[in-house]
Amino acid sequence: MFYRPRLGQAADKGLILIGKCNLCRRARAYIATDLLQLYHRDTYLDDLFGGCCPRCGKSDFWRLRQRYPSNSDVGMLTVRKLIGIKRTPQWRDELYDGAMQKPAGGEA
Ligand SMILES: [Zn+2]
Repeated sequence: MFYRPRLGQAADKGLILIGKCNLCRRARAYIATDLLQLYHRDTYLDDLFGGCCPRCGKSDFWRLRQRYPSNSDVGMLTVRKLIGIKRTPQWRDELYDGAMQKPAGGEA
């Protein structure tokens, strides 16, 4: 069976994920535990970022692999660190369905 690593396993091992796009010609390093804040731990590494380069949005040139950090990474490797998640409210106009007339939390 083809082995597809999942995010949770990578995070448990403290792995670094290197995403490389041959179209943008850039590689970026992510910390697996950071991505756990964005994705479920069962997510396949292939499916992170929708399987596409976050920059150009193309999947054909994008590849994400995992590796152990090494001592030589310290102070040398630039990682794309997650510093926060913006949640933007999303709105849409709908017909009122009456559901909000019930008192909230009234029933046991
Ligand atoms: Zn790209």
